[in-house]
Amino acid sequence: MRSQLFINNEWRDADSGAMLDVINPATEETIARVPSAGQADLDGAVAAARAALDGPWGRLSARDRGRLVWNIGEKLMERADDIARLETLHNGKPIFESRRIEVPAAADCFRYYAGWADKVHGETIPVSGNYLTYTLREPVGVVAAIVPWNFPLLLTAWKVAPALACGNTVIIKPASQTPLTALALAEAAAAVGLPPGVLNVLTGPGSTLGEMIVAHGGIDKIAFTGETSTGRQIMRGSAASLKRLTLELGGKSPNIVFADADLDAAVRGATTGIFYGKGEVCAAGSRLFVDRSIRDQFLDKVAARAKQLTPGDPMNPRTRLGAIASRTQLETDLRHIELAKQEGATLLAGGARADIGTGKGYFLQPTVFGGVTPAMTIAREEIFGPVLAALEFADVDEAIARANDTSYGLAAGVWTRDIKKAHYVARKLQAGTVWINTYNIYDTAAPFGGYKQSGFGREMGAHALEHYSQIKSVWVDLNQ
Ligand code: NAD
Repeated sequence: MRSQLFINNEWRDADSGAMLDVINPATEETIARVPSAGQADLDGAVAAARAALDGPWGRLSARDRGRLVWNIGEKLMERADDIARLETLHNGKPIFESRRIEVPAAADCFRYYAGWADKVHGETIPVSGNYLTYTLREPVGVVAAIVPWNFPLLLTAWKVAPALACGNTVIIKPASQTPLTALALAEAAAAVGLPPGVLNVLTGPGSTLGEMIVAHGGIDKIAFTGETSTGRQIMRGSAASLKRLTLELGGKSPNIVFADADLDAAVRGATTGIFYGKGEVCAAGSRLFVDRSIRDQFLDKVAARAKQLTPGDPMNPRTRLGAIASRTQLETDLRHIELAKQEGATLLAGGARADIGTGKGYFLQPTVFGGVTPAMTIAREEIFGPVLAALEFADVDEAIARANDTSYGLAAGVWTRDIKKAHYVARKLQAGTVWINTYNIYDTAAPFGGYKQSGFGREMGAHALEHYSQIKSVWVDLNQ
């Protein structure tokens, strides 16, 4: 396990010597200490990243760059068991999710963008007059990737893979709770021969290191995933240097079940929609809207499934619900549960801290509330935990209006057998992703991102390439 800063292909301690503890949320034990990087470390990483743009990296052919990006994906899979273990250790998610879903998805992201490296190019433009006018698509420069703790490796890959494919250099700042897999990624990048300075990792808190990154004049773009309030702060902080920004922020995504749906499939979709990843998923289907005519029977089934899903040791391959990622997040979840009760919601399942038999760890019972009304806090604020708020609707238009009654717009689900209704609702929902008769499905080729205050810019797919390249028009006078 690496536990130092990675700058210019060298492993280093922080200039100040300051350190951060990394906690395993399933055992509450300190599993590593990593440096808390400061201004001098950041200046060093920025200098290395800028030098690399003009160095061997900048001179590589696009195809050779693509080959390196591909090889990072291969290396991640070669080391998948170890990397998955680290992801589970610092985040608390089940090893099943880390090994079978997250690490393969991160590797896939590198392979997908490897293929784009030599297909991102300019064009010739038929202008008036006797000129040859063409465009060059050039990298943006030094990209900072600021990443949250819920999918530490995958959300890093979503940023780093397209950035490298387009020829940028990157500085990764993982969340302070989950720095270990970004360091494993750096190790993989060095192992495949990525030149010095192309990929750097600085560990440290958002309130210090994050703000220094946002203010740094040598960084050209920030790719951020995290809370909406942090996104606002980053926008304000980066205004002075007018950095390019992509912001992937929070959500309160609606999952709408019509009476004509395959109800067993919808029950599974409603529960995995909120309980996958312990609900620490930006796109979690945290607001379940159920057609009033089937409400009680449907919620009985949802509650029964929630009760069957018990939290367990994240390192056990059979566990499907792990530990809440931190004490702070567990406290947030419990606070929202209490508030929901006080505001009059009906507790249908869970609602309390869980013990897996060790007396340790931040475990929470999967929780379902019925009788939620649109004005309740549980229907409005992102909790970011395994807590479902069930609301009801009378008809299609009320379902759409209630689903859209939020400042967020990340994702939504629709369950119905009526194909016209499904597409009608999909078009009316204000969300960057709409799932029909499924939920929480992703693919590197499909763009993902927010409407409204869930952010702007898209990750994944061809659309992400726009954010990591800039266009130069070149004019040549052909007049004799
Ligand atoms: P957070 O905003 O607290 O932290 C995210 C990252 O930003 C961390 O690396 C943190 O250290 C850093 N940071 C914090 N304050 C900063 C500042 N002032 N300046 C610069 N950097 C700063 O979010 P979190 O609690 O780690 O993650 C949970 C949030 O992320 C949820 O709101 C969730 O919805 C969101 N999220 C969104 C998506 C998406 O794709 N839209 C995906 C995953 C998570």
